Amino acid sequence: MNNDLKIHNFLPSSYANGPGRRAVVWVQGCSLKCPGCYNPDTHNPEGGFTISVSELYNKIVSLKDSIEGITISGGEPLEQPEALAELVQKIRETTNFSIIVFTGYEWNELENILNYSEEKTNPKPTLTPNMLRKVINSIDILIAGRFDFKQKIGRHLLGSANKTIRFFTNRYNLKDFDNVPESEIVITADGKVVISGINPPRLKV
Ligand code: SF4
Repeated sequence: MNNDLKIHNFLPSSYANGPGRRAVVWVQGCSLKCPGCYNPDTHNPEGGFTISVSELYNKIVSLKDSIEGITISGGEPLEQPEALAELVQKIRETTNFSIIVFTGYEWNELENILNYSEEKTNPKPTLTPNMLRKVINSIDILIAGRFDFKQKIGRHLLGSANKTIRFFTNRYNLKDFDNVPESEIVITADGKVVISGINPPRLKV
């Protein structure tokens, strides 16, 4: 299995996307259209660039001495579930990295999918219960829910208060989020400026 993943960006070092120093993958493509979304450039599934899961995995693993984990954000990671499941499963099986995934789906929407049998009609046919289970079984934390600008908070990795945090392992707890900055501006080795975090400044140019 070597799926392709459509991604928007990859950052090898970030402190604003989870506890400790982390690599971040922003996937490309999101159909959820939350008003006030901070990452509208990630919505178009035709944008971004394609990378194979094995190439992305190798990039991540090459950082093994410098990061404690990987955060996968978007865009909407669960709209590319096969590639996402392959990536997180491979990282979980072969490394000690912690894994955080952000999704715009609500936890109860995901629970509904988990409760469908594979044979029943699934309202989101691309996201099967099996794939979702594979993702959940391979990650430490899922931060779920649409961004609601009326409930914006920007702390504890929550962009808005309606979002929920699921801990699937005991590697972290809420206290570990206390020192995660709400935003950061990173200048990459090739001179690009990347602004990220749960409450990034909106710069006017
Ligand atoms: S789910 Fe995330 S990327 Fe998609 S529209 Fe909502 S905030 Fe934006």
